[in-house]
Amino acid sequence: MLACTYKKTGNFELTEKNKPQLLDTKDAIVKITMSSICSSDIHIKHGSVAKAELGITVGHEMVGIVESIGSDVKNVKVGDRVTVNVETFCGECFFCKKGFVNNCTDKNGGWALGCRIDGGQAEYIRVPYANQGLNKIPETVSDEQALFVGDILATGFWAAKISEIKEDDTVLIIGAGPTGICTLICTILKNPKKIIVCEKNKARRDFIKRYYPNVIVTEPENCINIINRECERGGADVVIEVAGVEETFQMAWMAARPNAIVTIVALYNKPMSLPLPDMYGKNLTFKTGGVDACDCAEILSLIEKGKIDTTPLITHKYQLKDIEKAYEIFENKQENVIKIAIVNS
Ligand SMILES: [Zn+2]
Ligand SMILES: [Zn+2]
Repeated sequence: MLACTYKKTGNFELTEKNKPQLLDTKDAIVKITMSSICSSDIHIKHGSVAKAELGITVGHEMVGIVESIGSDVKNVKVGDRVTVNVETFCGECFFCKKGFVNNCTDKNGGWALGCRIDGGQAEYIRVPYANQGLNKIPETVSDEQALFVGDILATGFWAAKISEIKEDDTVLIIGAGPTGICTLICTILKNPKKIIVCEKNKARRDFIKRYYPNVIVTEPENCINIINRECERGGADVVIEVAGVEETFQMAWMAARPNAIVTIVALYNKPMSLPLPDMYGKNLTFKTGGVDACDCAEILSLIEKGKIDTTPLITHKYQLKDIEKAYEIFENKQENVIKIAIVNS
């Protein structure tokens, strides 16, 4: 089968590999129908994900059809259309039982697919702990609608959940990349008084204005002015940082009101530091990533009810055989790309 493979730092290549086999009674093999490229894939390509192993098939956002299952897989059956969760988790350890599945203590716990074990930019994938890792897609929900459930949408859902958003709140979301947009969609479900989105890219600001007209949109240069104008309590009640650079990290605490919750979703490529003397007395609560992706069934049900729609994020579609071209567009942010669906025909 074809598989997009991490060959060496700076290089992914479409290669021919053997179709995966069941290795455990809890495994399932899924025939991928659609996958996508995530900015984490780009981080792997450039060597900034230390755990990523050379030779693995990349890709951790995908949907497909169950091809075969081990004898202990009960939640899905052969022929089911499913989302695949970015995280592998056993469902039984201390962390899993508390819903902190990102820290599952299994050797493959957390983000393993497309990082430490073969992922989904391929024709087939082996999913360990398939009872936890697969969710059946409702009949009326298309592959396009379900594509982001296991990764960026799970992240947005989790970010909005842990940020403890209340109806009287003004929420600032920093960054309107794909995960920022998913965070926005899930924040809207919490019905806060105001939402402000700060984004440096004009095309992305225009995207937010077009699809979410009730949201206040600002460029970073003007963000603090907008915060001062829109927030009567000295800053945003909740700040969710989804951009991932030094400036946005600093903006996250500066734009927060005293006693606010600041949720850091972004993945940084170097250490960040907080100027604690300047912040003294602000009494902020920081929460940090990564996602506990265990709400996929609920997310699928919200999609089914029409409350979540991420299909506008799919700006491009490519066949798996042309994935190298898709990477070029995604990595270089050409053609105002937001997300690319990789279609297996
Ligand atoms: Zn991802
Ligand atoms: Zn576990």
